[in-house]
Amino acid sequence: TTRQKVALITGANKGIGRATAEQLAAAGVTILIGARNPQRGEQAAAEVRAAGGDAHPVILDVTDPATIQQAVRWVEDRFDHLDVLVNNAAITGSGQVSPENAHDQVPSTVRLDMVRAVFETNVFGVIAVTNAVLPLLRRSPAARIVNVSSTAGSLTIAADPDGPLAGLLASAAYSPSKTALNALTVQYANELRKDGILVNAADPGYVDTDINNHTGFLTPAQGAAVVVRLATLDGDGPTGQFFSESGPVPW
Ligand code: NDP
Repeated sequence: TTRQKVALITGANKGIGRATAEQLAAAGVTILIGARNPQRGEQAAAEVRAAGGDAHPVILDVTDPATIQQAVRWVEDRFDHLDVLVNNAAITGSGQVSPENAHDQVPSTVRLDMVRAVFETNVFGVIAVTNAVLPLLRRSPAARIVNVSSTAGSLTIAADPDGPLAGLLASAAYSPSKTALNALTVQYANELRKDGILVNAADPGYVDTDINNHTGFLTPAQGAAVVVRLATLDGDGPTGQFFSESGPVPW
């Protein structure tokens, strides 16, 4: 008997997380729609079900240990295991990362409480959720973890004075949070390699969502493609790497 595949996606009520939910559901995976707001989670799950998928909302604020514990208990009671974790939830700390509000993020004028809030969600929240669900992932024969990162976290790209991010993305909060997420991706991949759990970072590209006030040019579905691919890797697939749809992204 093959067990039903189950995936938990954080921040799945909208944007790239939501599109990832739709695509994995269409591939026959049971989707747990992580959402910090119950109404938004229920709405998204209902819409994925209306499209023929199997989706369930789960209240999950990645900065709130109580909701994480509650979510894990519910997943264990209901499904006993988890096959896929997509760490997708994130904030920029600004309305958006753009030249207009660059003072929010620029290192010399950044507010430390904002940097802390961004790391709390984008980095510490990932550790909290990942460690809480790892016992359930270990019950899967082929567990996968996908950390939704960004080229904004690439030190190689950011350090290139002639590169695409030069001058545009002076960021002391969002970019370093994604760099730290990339570092965690490598560390988790190294620890979990012996258990057959593949852990990779995904760069969705510049996607039209709320996080950038809809300035992105890719659709959420296009951005989700690489996330889905990394969530459904074969056992001989890569681990501890950073990919966009067009291939490896430099760290
Ligand atoms: P959205 O703002 O559309 O979605 C972000 C999601 O994260 C929302 O569901 C939001 O919930 C959720 N979220 C935020 N904070 C928390 C929290 N504490 N607990 C649980 N959920 C939370 O942005 P995107 O879809 O664009 O972003 C998804 C991922 O893609 C992020 O990791 C982002 O950094 C990454 N990314 C996006 C790019 C882009 O161009 N759009 C480019 C590169 C990377 P709520 O609805 O309640 O606010």
